[in-house]
Amino acid sequence: MKIIKKIKAQKNWSQENRNNGKFIGYVPTMGFLHEGHLSLVRKSVDISDVTVVSIFVNPGQFGPGEDFKDYPRDEERDIKLLEEEGVDAVFIPDESEMYPPGFKTYVEVEGLSRKYCGETRTIHFRGVTTVLIKLFNIVKPDVAIFGEKDYQQFIIVRRMCRDLNLDVRIETSPTVREKDGLAMSSRNRYLNSEERNSARFLYKSLLLAVRMVKEGEREVDTIIDEMKDLIESKEHADIEYIEFVDPETLEKVDKIRDNVRVLLAVRVGKARLIDNIGIEP
Ligand code: AMP
Repeated sequence: MKIIKKIKAQKNWSQENRNNGKFIGYVPTMGFLHEGHLSLVRKSVDISDVTVVSIFVNPGQFGPGEDFKDYPRDEERDIKLLEEEGVDAVFIPDESEMYPPGFKTYVEVEGLSRKYCGETRTIHFRGVTTVLIKLFNIVKPDVAIFGEKDYQQFIIVRRMCRDLNLDVRIETSPTVREKDGLAMSSRNRYLNSEERNSARFLYKSLLLAVRMVKEGEREVDTIIDEMKDLIESKEHADIEYIEFVDPETLEKVDKIRDNVRVLLAVRVGKARLIDNIGIEP
């Protein structure tokens, strides 16, 4: 496995593989890898000739006062895990090369970037789309794999690729969960044991929504009230939002007539956790 730190070197590596007719799969990450990340990597290895994984804690997607400095990092362990998965190249760029002095260009998907998670994290998705278009230009993948765990991110990235005629295909992979249902996340390590216990109610509330729809409930407000009761009955859990949305456009839905995606964000202690689930009535 090649470890690549310079932008030019990654461009050359990718160009060489493209010249040799290789289909390049790509998984962008912020590192501190867990089984969720590795499931995306396995999918890429499975469907591509060669796989590139990037590790870059992107300062551009953290707002002031967010956890950029504290975000967990363990490059050595990440490299070992990726080597075991049969990854061909790991791209670990330097912040100073990605954002040199004078950097001034941003890509933003209007509207979608300011909803839901974007309401409180106002520059977050602009940071994500900006770094991704840079990374796509450097890695030049044929396919890039994203987790359903970050559902709004997936929809925004797909929108950007369509709007800007990028040649990269966007694919998703299902959310990988702990045994009790908590979605795996690098941020779960911020939780103490009491908070960890409350955090499992995020997924339980999503399952409650699935059950209520199965039993015939169609009023979104009624379901959200029950979900809130369940989550807020737990210590340390502070709901930021729960929304039922159209799975393609992310427009809000108030009555369930068709497939919906339930998105939620909850603060548990100092961790801000997100999760989502698809419901087919
Ligand atoms: P991150 O390192 O948090 O930026 O995540 C990198 C990629 O891994 C994104 O596409 C995430 O959606 C995906 N991901 C993170 N957690 C999970 C999970 N529990 N299951 C599946 N994919 C995940």
